Amino acid sequence: MSVCLEQKEIKMIEKLQKIVSSLKKSEYTFNEDEILPFCTDWRGKYHAKAKLVVFPKSLKNLVTVIKKCNQYNIKVVPQGGNTGLVGGSIPTKQDYEIVLNLKKLDKINKFNPVNSSIEIEAGCILEDIQNFVQKKGFYFPISMGSRGTCQIGGNISTNAGGLNVIKYGNIRTNILGLEAITGEGKIFSDLKDVKKNNTGYDLKSLLVGSEGTLGVITKVKFKLFPLPKDKRVVFASFNNLGNLINFFSRTKEFFNDLISSFELINFNSLKLVIKHQKLSRILNDAPYYALVELSSLVEDSRFTKTVEDNFYNISGLCKEIIVSKSINENKNLWNYREMVPIAERNIRICVKHDISVPLSNMEKFISRTERLLQKFDKDFDVINFGHLGDNNLHYNVFSKVESKNTKLEEMSDSISNMIFENSEKLGGSFSAEHGIGQQRKKELIKFKNKEEIELMRKIKVLFDPNNILNPGKVI
Ligand code: FAD
Repeated sequence: MSVCLEQKEIKMIEKLQKIVSSLKKSEYTFNEDEILPFCTDWRGKYHAKAKLVVFPKSLKNLVTVIKKCNQYNIKVVPQGGNTGLVGGSIPTKQDYEIVLNLKKLDKINKFNPVNSSIEIEAGCILEDIQNFVQKKGFYFPISMGSRGTCQIGGNISTNAGGLNVIKYGNIRTNILGLEAITGEGKIFSDLKDVKKNNTGYDLKSLLVGSEGTLGVITKVKFKLFPLPKDKRVVFASFNNLGNLINFFSRTKEFFNDLISSFELINFNSLKLVIKHQKLSRILNDAPYYALVELSSLVEDSRFTKTVEDNFYNISGLCKEIIVSKSINENKNLWNYREMVPIAERNIRICVKHDISVPLSNMEKFISRTERLLQKFDKDFDVINFGHLGDNNLHYNVFSKVESKNTKLEEMSDSISNMIFENSEKLGGSFSAEHGIGQQRKKELIKFKNKEEIELMRKIKVLFDPNNILNPGKVI
């Protein structure tokens, strides 16, 4: 290392030490081995380096860290459970970005049964919130496969979708109030416990989905819902996508707001979970499967019978259909959907996309995209699963032949481009629920119009004038 670089490094280390000077030892680490997991993303696609990870235990300490980072121009990467899928939660550069992990700010502060609301610190694990609320006789509807690890602050920063959007909306629609720290260390606080509050621009909505680039979310107030009294899961197979989409329409006619999830699983996805998660084959091979969850908010002894009768009426659209009979069976059936992303990790090269397409164009999108994919190579195939009821597909390309993995890697940009162009042309989006992070920045510039990008850049400067919050992400 040259003398000049060495001096620069010493100065930087001195700054990092000043940043943590008022913190307890248990609120930070400089240890390389301890830092490592905070610098690799869930998929193992992005690897970064950092010299420091901080875990503040109080709002006061967190604000001190941000203020000092702003003063010394040290970049900060806010991090929750690090389950994000676009490389947003780890540093991009190796030059002294620090990771600010919220895991030690994890208190559930105010549960209010009269207002049906709860106030939670940002580092609380999603599943812990669900369990806490359930014990109180209420329901917290935000849920996804990563619920045992992801934090509510991360969920808000990505405007998480998940399994129940069809009935309860994505996370933004369930937020009553928010507290966040701007890039200058100022506290933005709008934590009122009211559903109506039309008092100027809705700044908290801007923070939702901002992926740590506008503020560090520290606290949130949420709406709660009545605990469903009963749930039934239906697992069905289909000869073609048209039948499955018709089945969805008929299910909506019969069940309307009783539908809490409607998920798609294609043949390759199911094959993968059966192979790698050792699940038994309960439906015969078919091109497509649907998993539907229905929840009843009222005690109704005839619920299961009504579900069975109505599904019997539309079962002509399916090849086979299973209706669960118990909570345990519900869980077992859900595994066939929830295990797909886990099983998918066994595929060495998989080009992943999280897109949305209007339901009316879904068949067109799939037939057009599959045709175009065959032109790249006839051995390329698709793992297609996701929240079809919210028009959301996880549309991932792999090679059926290992020897063509290099070719797939080389062509991955062109394949992704083709998929994004098709979804955009058909009125959809290149990123449905995973966000932009560092992975989809190119597409943001390509598919958003200039005016939108210009406004986004101006907003960034207002919240974070020195660009210390999550640089190199989103915009
Ligand atoms: P992280 O990954 O740590 O961070 C994500 C982004 O938020 C980063 O940009 C980070 O800088 C920022 N951030 C984190 N915490 C804060 C904070 N307190 N303040 C400001 N910025 C912050 N996503 C869905 O939407 N729906 C799904 O169904 C879904 N299923 C998944 C299933 C699996 C198995 C996995 C691994 C992931 C899944 N995801 C899903 C993606 C991921 O779990 C979500 O994006 C989740 O909301 C991220 O939360 P996190 O705490 O892990 O955030």
